[in-house]
Amino acid sequence: MRVSGVSAEGPGQGGDGPASVLVAEDDPAITTQLVRGLRLAGYEASSVGTGREVLSSPVVDVVLLDLGLPDIDGVEVCRQLRARSDGAIIVITARGEESDRVLALDQGADDYMVKPFGLAELLARIRAVLRRSRPQDSEALRHGDLLVDLRTGKVTIAGRNVPLTPKEFGILECLASDPGRVVTRQEIMERAWDSHWYGPMKVLDVHVASLRKKLGQPGLIETVYGRGFRLADSR
Ligand code: CA
Repeated sequence: MRVSGVSAEGPGQGGDGPASVLVAEDDPAITTQLVRGLRLAGYEASSVGTGREVLSSPVVDVVLLDLGLPDIDGVEVCRQLRARSDGAIIVITARGEESDRVLALDQGADDYMVKPFGLAELLARIRAVLRRSRPQDSEALRHGDLLVDLRTGKVTIAGRNVPLTPKEFGILECLASDPGRVVTRQEIMERAWDSHWYGPMKVLDVHVASLRKKLGQPGLIETVYGRGFRLADSR
């Protein structure tokens, strides 16, 4: 559950459902990957492929705006978007569009990312812009005596500080964002490994073993054979 938020569902929410993210991108491969990653991370994600559609879409918490949309100039889309909504705008640019990126920031974009980028970094940027635009939202996951602070990356169990590697933190964040649910190996790899992992899945077991040891409650992370892992009930 969320520590101080009004409800206990997705990340960065204010009490009326998970934060909503609109992916405005004309490359279907990128769109599919982003929407899937955002949904796995608990966001309500939708997508459009043109500037006209961006400007006629319902207002969302965060727009990921590709500056190279086919119909309207990206900087102009950004300007009009800012004029109609207070939602966060993260512009996505390809290399060589640096001047556009600066113009977009001038027109009210909150942040930018240069392609190609990893999902983990994008999720961190989204959390950061949501923190600024929705500071009332809580930023920690609590499960029993386990506390995962998403802002500082600190983990404590029964008040004891547990130093984790980034991968271990990613795995724990995955599990703690929905305690009790079986999270598949694929899902964990996509979130904690930035979806660019092509090596053996065995690597995940090594990190989980280390994580269990550090947490000092071996039963807290349950292996569900053939499926994945889940955070068990803790006392
Ligand atoms: Ca494009």
